[in-house]
Amino acid sequence: MTRSDELFEQAKQTIPGGVNSPVRAFSSVGGAPRFIEKADGAYIFDADGNKYIDYVGSWGPMILGHNHPKIRQAVLNAVENGLSFGAPTELEVAMAEKVIEMVPSMEQVRMVSSGTEATMSAIRLARGFTNRDKILKFEGCYHGHADCLLVKAGSGALTLGQPSSPGIPEDFAKHTLTATYNDLESVKALFEQYPDAISCIILEPVAGNMNCIPPVDGFLQGLRAICDEYGALMIIDEVMTGFRVSKSGAQGHYGVTPDLTTLGKVIGGGMPVGAFGGRKDVMQFIAPTGPVYQAGTLSGNPIAMSAGLAQMEALCEDGVYEQLAAKTQYIAEGLKASANKHGIPMAINYVGGMFGFFFTDAEKVTSFEQVTQCDAAMFPEFYHGMLDEGVYLAPSAFEAGFLSLAHGEAELEATLAAADRVFAKMAK
Ligand code: PMP
Repeated sequence: MTRSDELFEQAKQTIPGGVNSPVRAFSSVGGAPRFIEKADGAYIFDADGNKYIDYVGSWGPMILGHNHPKIRQAVLNAVENGLSFGAPTELEVAMAEKVIEMVPSMEQVRMVSSGTEATMSAIRLARGFTNRDKILKFEGCYHGHADCLLVKAGSGALTLGQPSSPGIPEDFAKHTLTATYNDLESVKALFEQYPDAISCIILEPVAGNMNCIPPVDGFLQGLRAICDEYGALMIIDEVMTGFRVSKSGAQGHYGVTPDLTTLGKVIGGGMPVGAFGGRKDVMQFIAPTGPVYQAGTLSGNPIAMSAGLAQMEALCEDGVYEQLAAKTQYIAEGLKASANKHGIPMAINYVGGMFGFFFTDAEKVTSFEQVTQCDAAMFPEFYHGMLDEGVYLAPSAFEAGFLSLAHGEAELEATLAAADRVFAKMAK
């Protein structure tokens, strides 16, 4: 029994499933999760002393690599002054200014402590501002676990949403309409049915919670036009893509301007942070300037702001995004070439610092339906093969992979060599 196995058994006694967030439990790949002791640069180290090249990056934020000296120092400096005040600070102002400088559609911004809080608050604001109850989301997109967002499509097109978890009343879920990602017609049909009732569309501008699905040409612009036509707000959820796909987020990369944007883990550099912001007239609708209530004891926490600011400043240095994109392209194309060499069909997607690979005969994967049709047995086999080789991927075929600037040539080559050996075994 490994130390990770022992810790997992022990954890299950006191923590449901042994984990504080379900995907960590390795449910979809089998086996016990690795308990992590520390991380540095492109590597994480488990409780048994194993070292892995990490493509999870704490699910996104570690764009500079783990334990980056600039972020570590910023946190240590901030700790000297106390951990939390529950009062305004100059740091928060600096953070707001930095976010707004990087993402011009955000004219004002409010800090929260997680991505879930950011999307939940943005939706309350959109509903309050438009005085409409319904929201529209896409099947396969994840926006955190607020009640109105844990909703799946009802049976048949144009039906009201169904709760996707017990504990969410149908009366809540019925206000969430679910459309098909990359399919503007499905969105138009819902707006035609509810022309005056939909407060907002919320979407991942590159879907990273159904593997990695970029928007097809014209999809984001089409959604913008539909929102304008019907007076609904467009909320782009950049919790994953913000400052990972480009310096100005996926919205900058694809040239689309939302009314509201949600941000998350990336702006905390590894500390618990989220934010939502956008048009000033909309943001002024929040308390204390407006009637929509939203609050948080730890919002704008000085340690989190210090870590986040240090990360954002480093991300503004020249060449960061070119490097990140080149590394990502190299790993994604390398994986595909290696799989194909061994006769294993594979499709890939990548944008900026995020990538996905699919065990499928399809040339291109652009829909949630296609993701669900991929070979379900191959992913766990590949996953465990790579883990044994010292490469740590997201333990689910529905998650995107993340690169960091700390992934150098040595790590990229080692990853592709490992993949080549694993594909060779799988092909037998
Ligand atoms: N939105 C998106 C796009 C996400 O990927 C996530 C989490 N991965 C969330 C929202 C929720 O963020 P958090 O886990 O910080 O609540």
